[in-house]
Amino acid sequence: MKTESFLWGDLKKTAFPTLTTDISCTWLIVGGGIAGLSVAYYLLEAGETDIVVIEKDTIGSGSTGHSAGMLVYEPEQARWAEYTKKYGPRIARLYLQSQLNTLSLIQDIIKKERISCDYTGEYLLELADTKAEVQKIMKDATARQIMGLQENPLPKNTLPKALQAGGYLYAEKVNNEISLNPLAFARGFAKALKKRGVRIYEETPMLHIKKHVATTTKGTITFDQAFSCLGTADTASDIKKYITSICVTRKLTKSEIKTIGLTDKVMFLDDYNSSFMYGKVTADRRILFGFGDVLLTTNKIPNPYRPHIKEITQFTKKHFSAALPFTHSWSAAYALSKKDIPVVKKIANGFRINGGGTQISTMVAAGYAVSVALKKKHPLTNLFEK
Ligand SMILES: Cc1cc2nc3c(=O)[nH]c(=O)nc-3n(C[C@H](O)[C@H](O)[C@H](O)COP(=O)(O)OP(=O)(O)OC[C@H]3O[C@@H](n4cnc5c(N)ncnc54)[C@H](O)[C@@H]3O)c2cc1C
Repeated sequence: MKTESFLWGDLKKTAFPTLTTDISCTWLIVGGGIAGLSVAYYLLEAGETDIVVIEKDTIGSGSTGHSAGMLVYEPEQARWAEYTKKYGPRIARLYLQSQLNTLSLIQDIIKKERISCDYTGEYLLELADTKAEVQKIMKDATARQIMGLQENPLPKNTLPKALQAGGYLYAEKVNNEISLNPLAFARGFAKALKKRGVRIYEETPMLHIKKHVATTTKGTITFDQAFSCLGTADTASDIKKYITSICVTRKLTKSEIKTIGLTDKVMFLDDYNSSFMYGKVTADRRILFGFGDVLLTTNKIPNPYRPHIKEITQFTKKHFSAALPFTHSWSAAYALSKKDIPVVKKIANGFRINGGGTQISTMVAAGYAVSVALKKKHPLTNLFEK
């Protein structure tokens, strides 16, 4: 299989300057992924100014830009049924609502700022091919229903023919999700923040922080409060790091997609071989398959991670009958909180955010962290402080 590796764009292309002098600011954000950018956004929305974001490589070049761009309101750490059980329906509902609000916010930002990122509103099919999986998905759907959302069960005979043939027994259709090009979104988001006065520096790695001074390779930044949003470069012990991999097919015709049993508005998720398989139809009508979570035990991320590519190939043969040629494949890592909610921690002179696992949970955590920094009330205090 010959692949062109990465699909979403040129990760090395810069759009912002590098810091070359000493500067000062009120708010320093270290890390230009979705966490760092969202912190800048929420600070602006709260009326704050004098904000600096520094990114060691380019905006979105970490987990954010490598992701599948399936923006869903299913947290990575646990299922809704577990949240309702552990935190009670009221708090679980607030968490769910904040995730749904974040999805609407993203749509608004994309529209208002005219961010060109292949945005489409899609639905997610949670697929089950064993009776045990059917039970698990139904339990989750019931939990969502308790929290006020509609259940949309798709029994076997209503599934697209190709999915039936692939052995699926059941699916739950989850509406109101988003598909986009995550690198293009992060870059467009950063440009919108810049227009509102945020100073953004790329290729500006933070080397260390001492009291209120951060040292980068070519200048220092004196700040009042900092947000550490380092993604997988974070070495704290409250997060785990996983490798996950993506394979993408060539562009398909509408009828090819239909024959395979999908529409161009669908994303899917399937518990598979003690991990999970996820996927979507992209705006240019490719099928993107993602697989995995393997614990990352070294600092070096194997790209592509061959065992995952093998799993994806086997999966497509089993469930999508036509083993499609892939044109792109890559692997990358992301950080996941060891608890069932993202990490938002007070550190010396600021806050640390990580381990959201999904972009939506990460944005929710960023919003919460900003409220705490500004000593404002937040509906999720009971969740994050439990
Ligand atoms: C292959 C893959 C597929 C995924 N698919 C999805 C998906 O479909 N949907 C979804 O919701 N989530 C998905 N995720 C997870 C999601 O991408 C992450 O949870 C989220 O993007 C994390 O955002 P972040 O800002 O915390 O981290 P990052 O995006 O990694 O941002 C951290 C940034 O900090 C920078 N940095 C690190 N150290 C320094 C330093 N010293 N100085 C300055 N900058 C520094 C890094 O360069 C990086 O850009 C996927 C992840 C992967 C890897």
